[in-house]
Amino acid sequence: MRRLLIATKNAHKTAEIRAILGDGWDVSDLNAHPEIAAPEETGATFAENAAIKALAAARLFPGLVLADDSGLEVDALGGAPGVRSARYAGEQATDAGNRAKLLRELAATRGKARTARFRCALALADAGTVRATFDGTVEGVIINAERGEDGFGYDALFVPAGHCETFAQLPAAVKNQLSHRARAVAQAAIFLCR
Ligand code: IMP
Repeated sequence: MRRLLIATKNAHKTAEIRAILGDGWDVSDLNAHPEIAAPEETGATFAENAAIKALAAARLFPGLVLADDSGLEVDALGGAPGVRSARYAGEQATDAGNRAKLLRELAATRGKARTARFRCALALADAGTVRATFDGTVEGVIINAERGEDGFGYDALFVPAGHCETFAQLPAAVKNQLSHRARAVAQAAIFLCR
């Protein structure tokens, strides 16, 4: 099995990446490596932040590192929360607080289209260098009230195009087929298997 460190403490991201990659990969994350501190995410884009996270971990970890920077872009909010998705309601924000803020902001736009997309940028690093980056996007809409218990972040508010249920209602296997993360990881897997 090949080892891959995911440069995150978000166990939801790790579980999704592990499921998408499937057998053949020994996937761990920063919860198993408390000596590797998460860097400040100072980038202006998802790709910049993914590279910052991948390099910070690859400096201390002797092997392949994959970093995920991702978030939600809502058209009626000019692309917000974007790279600030995790911190939308403040530096110590919870997922529930971020979702509540999103619903408040959208209510204030009074009927503007609720189209949105999740974006994921992945950076793959080893030996202190970023080897490649990959992107994935999934289009959808933001609904008026939360639906579903599964997933994390904004899942309970996001209905992917072509479906009637939110990411928090759809089976994990369905989200892991069509999500922004699934699309980016599929590219990374092709690169890694070359
Ligand atoms: P990051 O850890 O800085 O990349 O922040 C990612 C944030 O974007 C998360 O905390 C969520 O709020 C949001 N996000 C990213 N991917 C997803 C997803 O698959 N479902 C729901 N929310 C997501």
